[in-house]
Formats: sequence, C-alpha cells, structure tokens
Amino acid sequence: MKLDVLAFGAHPDDVELSCSGTLLLEQKRGHSVGIVDLTLGELGTRGDVETRRAEAEKSSVILGLSVRINLELPDGFIQADRPSILAVIRILRQFRPDVVLAPALEDRHPDHGRAGNLVTEACFLAGLARIETYWQPGEGPQQPWRPRSLHQYIQDRLLKPDFVVDITSVMDQRMQSILAFGTQFYDPAAEAPNTYISSPEFLEGIYSRAREMGRMAGFAYGEGFTTRKVAGVKSILDLF
Ligand SMILES: [Zn+2]
Repeated sequence: MKLDVLAFGAHPDDVELSCSGTLLLEQKRGHSVGIVDLTLGELGTRGDVETRRAEAEKSSVILGLSVRINLELPDGFIQADRPSILAVIRILRQFRPDVVLAPALEDRHPDHGRAGNLVTEACFLAGLARIETYWQPGEGPQQPWRPRSLHQYIQDRLLKPDFVVDITSVMDQRMQSILAFGTQFYDPAAEAPNTYISSPEFLEGIYSRAREMGRMAGFAYGEGFTTRKVAGVKSILDLF
C-alpha cells in the first residue's frame, strides 16, 4: 500500500493535536493518509497503554486513516539512534509517502524535538540504496524511498509558521479526533490527577491556536507548519 501523506507523532494524540485537520482535508480529497505513533505513551499520567490504544483506534476511524502503526519506541527517551532510524526507514520504504509530517524540531516535551530530528534524518537516509532494510523476514530488501517533501507541524510552542493550511471546513471533525483521547483532556467527572493538558484552558488553547494560525493567513482556523526546504507552488494563484 502506498500513502499520499504520512504523519509521525512522538505520542498517540500528538498528530491529532497538531495536524489532524490537514490529514482530514486530504482524506476527504481521496488521498490516502496514515499515522505512525513512535511510542505507546506509557509515561502518560492519565489512562494507560490500553486506553491510549483504544483512543487511538477511535480517532483513526474519525480521521479515515488507511494505516496507523505504533513503533513502540521508549516514551520519554526517543533518540535518533541507529535502531530507531532504521525502524522509521522501514516504514517510509513500505508506505512510500509523498509528504511526511513530523513533530516540531523544538517543543515543550523533549521527545517532540528528538522525534522531529529522528524523522528528518530517516527521510534522508531512506533514499540511500546501500542502507539495506527488510519489511518482513524472508522477503527481499526494500527499495529506497525519499519523500517529496517533509514539514514539521507546530504543536505546543508558538513558532512562526512557514505556511498555514486552512482547516476551517473540518474544524469540528478535528476536535472530535482530539476528544477521542478522552482520558487525556478535561473531564469534570474524572478522578485521575490533573495534568498540563487536562485543564479546560488547554482545550480552549487548541481553538485559539487554530484561530491564531488561521488569522495569519486569512482563514477562520488553520494549522501551521515549518519547513526547511523552500515550499514551491505551480501557480501564484494558489497562494492566499
Ligand atoms: Zn507528545
């Protein structure tokens, strides 16, 4: 199976919080989209690995994902080491995404920046034929693949975006995918300990961030991205 767009997250819910609107838009246009969660989120204060898994499955249905895979790297200790890079290369070569979305290279949670660097390095190295990888034991070696473009989604830290995607038409569905992670966010009935992301203000912040990103580009709601490669367009009329 080949994917058009593949988003990587350090923890289940990172992609939903940051670029699920962008994925929804492409899925509705008939493009195939997927998510790779790098860890199970086993260090999360609320819920556990099983509830996270169930929440991720619920969200995957809302987003219409073709693929969702968890690489089960260690939560809190993501590194761009050789085994982790090879694990990401295997995914890239298997699903051959044209566009990869990765975590911001600098963010509040240290895993996010490290995950961003891990995916960035793997996107380059996946194109080198002499790095040999296999999808399944007994199969032939995978073909090299380098995604056409790689962008980092803006998550917690307010970074200046290089471009903004208009997610106004899918904002409600985007929020449903976020709220699928019910144990993580505000629930007045929950007895679990409060965390940074379980306050009502955090959810309000999700709306106001989308408003702020959208406003910069003239949309009601937006998702912001940074990119190291200059983003080009075929027609000047495609720019807002
Ligand atoms: Zn995270």
